[in-house]
Amino acid sequence: MVPDLDVERVYGIRTFWDLEQNQGKHTDEEWQEAMAELDMRVSQIDAFRRIAFFHHLILINNHREEIEAENPYMKEAISEALEGIYNGHGGPFGCVIVKDGRIVGRGHNRVLSIIDSTAHGEISAIRDAEKALGTHDLSGCELYTTGEPCPMCLNAILWANIEKVYYGCTISDNAGIGFRDEKFDQLSGGREAFSDFLICIDRKACQKLFEVYNSLEHVIY
Ligand SMILES: [Zn+2]
Repeated sequence: MVPDLDVERVYGIRTFWDLEQNQGKHTDEEWQEAMAELDMRVSQIDAFRRIAFFHHLILINNHREEIEAENPYMKEAISEALEGIYNGHGGPFGCVIVKDGRIVGRGHNRVLSIIDSTAHGEISAIRDAEKALGTHDLSGCELYTTGEPCPMCLNAILWANIEKVYYGCTISDNAGIGFRDEKFDQLSGGREAFSDFLICIDRKACQKLFEVYNSLEHVIY
């Protein structure tokens, strides 16, 4: 048992390498070295966790294939969301932040797992990106999220100077699986002013993600 080994982290590194490999950013040698390192880390997990880990990977990979997003970054946001769903962390909301074609931050909804109503995917990804880049200013970054940002996240995105938001499911899709975004959106006066800032892409794929979430046992909050 390796106490500081985080299964999720290993999986995150793997998907990150997959993405970069698809973009031709690594030589075969670098790729093999990275995979050997990941295998080594996985082998350090005790047997029980290892079985759970691979079961988990199979489930996620099955759904990753089934949910066919076209945009590579939305694919990553969906992977984040699936990770959260299978771990029971919270709703089906995953997010990545991209700068100059590179993912600089990622996160998913953890409202249930860390008992924090503000732990939405976008907030988690913003924190991750700011930490990674060493700045609170995410100018030049774009954000990809599986669900249209709620008013809290939309404002956090604006505070962080993120330049564009691509979302999959709409606010009304969020409402369709029991989330209260619509109500909070009305309270804050709607979002008509953001049509150039909030762009809907891969909605069908994200709706499929929501279906997967809805078909599994889950807690509505
Ligand atoms: Zn939110």
